[in-house]
Amino acid sequence: LWTKIRNELADVVGKDNFRNWIEPIEFGTLNEGEAVFYVPTNFIGDWVTRNFSDLIMMRLKAAGVPVSRMKFTLAPASRPQAPRVPAKAAAATRTAAVATTTEDELPGAPLDPRFTFDRFVVGKPNELAHAAARRVAEGNEVSFNPLFLYGGVGLGKTHLMHAIAHELQNREDGLRVVYLSAEQFMYRFVQALRDKQMMDFKQLFRSVDVLMVDDVQFIAGKDSTQEEFFHTFNALVDQNKQIVISADRAPNEIKDMEDRITSRLQCGLVVDLHPTDYELRLGILQQKVEQQRMQYPGLVIADGVLEFLAHRISNNVRVLEGALMRLFAFATLVGREITLDLTQECLADILRASDRKITIEEIQRKVSEHYNIRLSDLIGPRRLRALARPRQVAMYLSKQLTSRSLPEIGRRFGNRDHTTIMHGVRKIEELMMNDSQLADDIELLRRALEA
Ligand code: ADP
Ligand code: MG
Repeated sequence: LWTKIRNELADVVGKDNFRNWIEPIEFGTLNEGEAVFYVPTNFIGDWVTRNFSDLIMMRLKAAGVPVSRMKFTLAPASRPQAPRVPAKAAAATRTAAVATTTEDELPGAPLDPRFTFDRFVVGKPNELAHAAARRVAEGNEVSFNPLFLYGGVGLGKTHLMHAIAHELQNREDGLRVVYLSAEQFMYRFVQALRDKQMMDFKQLFRSVDVLMVDDVQFIAGKDSTQEEFFHTFNALVDQNKQIVISADRAPNEIKDMEDRITSRLQCGLVVDLHPTDYELRLGILQQKVEQQRMQYPGLVIADGVLEFLAHRISNNVRVLEGALMRLFAFATLVGREITLDLTQECLADILRASDRKITIEEIQRKVSEHYNIRLSDLIGPRRLRALARPRQVAMYLSKQLTSRSLPEIGRRFGNRDHTTIMHGVRKIEELMMNDSQLADDIELLRRALEA
């Protein structure tokens, strides 16, 4: 049955997608509603989970398979191995790595063929990161080393890194570009240790022209991997080779990272991808619709649907894309036009999850109620001791529960400076350690706000 369903998917996802991502999936087990599929690499597994799981689930259900959850994991036999790129996938998706000596010694992960600059929509929140990535992709000179990109999940870090790699690989001069996640770096390292291949490992990583390590926060707290990463990093910088790093937060905010590494990471250009805004989300949606036209030729989207989605769905572009893909698949399946009604029906769960946006105003109101002071006093300039603590609590909660920056929070607190807000947040963090009454108060407020 799986083979049949799989082959049917070829028509839906297109030939390339099918060959790269769907064809390698093997059916594993079905147990109490959980279907387990085997994939050759974690990368493919992640990718399938992200991009095709809704579609696969729908097909399985349509075929009468009693499935409610799905997992894409490495086949049991290949589990202990470091993820290797199977020859077929490597050939199909041009790999990130270019062999140094022998063909099978590729340390990089395959690149997603869709993550190109062409397909990256630029807006205010990501324009700096995009410009920096472009600069590195020109590859003419090493102007900042490393380029450190950071930001929350689904904001385009991996997309930008792949785009750089694609670009550099297309050059004539055969640059050796290696892209991999920090997790894969660790696997490689552990494997080399186990197989007593450390010399090869070192040589391999030190002979690349461009090294890109994604999600570097992963190696925080992993001491020997960090150590090796540090040496690789230094060796490459000394040779004036370009390094690109990404993480989910700023270098100095990564816990359990050695100071010397943190300071190394900061010595190039550090840029962050900000949460998306409405215009960027709308732009991305419009682009996705354009790209899907080929695959869903009969698709009709009513006016206002994209605007509605851009307005209602959160920052995370991955969630946004997932929602759109589900909408497409659903509309195609039932053969209906995508209207606002259909959108609300089909995406009810995603919309509900995105709804919970706590505002600074709500926080201020709740805090002033809780401490029984006037809202105007909480926000206003009066320097009364009785007001100081509640004010700091409200600042702290604003920082914790909203995605607003310190300067933005400052503005909402009667135009206070961002250092005042930072001081308030720190103060509360400190006090909470010893003052359990305060910690309880805050927990109570948090729950009330999140309810
Ligand atoms: P991160 O690595 O920051 O978690 P990704 O790079 O994996 O995020 O992006 C998540 C998804 O959103 C990807 O499918 C990516 O193509 C898409 N995406 C993110 N930002 C943009 C953008 N500016 N334009 C187009 N697609 C984007
Ligand atoms: Mg990523």
